[in-house]
Amino acid sequence: MSGYAKGTKGACDRLWAQIIRARANGCCERCGTPGPVQAAHIFRKGYNATRHDLRNGRGLCGNCHTGQDGVDLGMWDWPELIGVVEYEDLRLFMRNNTPFSPPAGMTLDGWWQHTRDTLKTEAVFMGLAA
Ligand SMILES: [Zn+2]
Repeated sequence: MSGYAKGTKGACDRLWAQIIRARANGCCERCGTPGPVQAAHIFRKGYNATRHDLRNGRGLCGNCHTGQDGVDLGMWDWPELIGVVEYEDLRLFMRNNTPFSPPAGMTLDGWWQHTRDTLKTEAVFMGLAA
């Protein structure tokens, strides 16, 4: 799925996806099929709290991510796939920070800039051109 946001938030989307795909290292993290992967959100990207959280993504082949019809499968087996403890940690984090608001004294755009810089640093650390 594409559909990156505009502006700084979109830059975060692209960096997040780049890191998630690279981390999968050329294999679907669900079924193990080698080949190109898509960056899949565990909790959908509508939740800003976890939208760019690197815990909230895995690289999946097109079949595992969206199936034949291109519709997001919803991945009922995420808890099994990433572990129940990690899944619950992430779910609670998302729930406790939704609706999302940036830290006190920070604008939402300031938050996206901070997130972009953090993701950029991670991408460079991983040896990706960012
Ligand atoms: Zn797969």
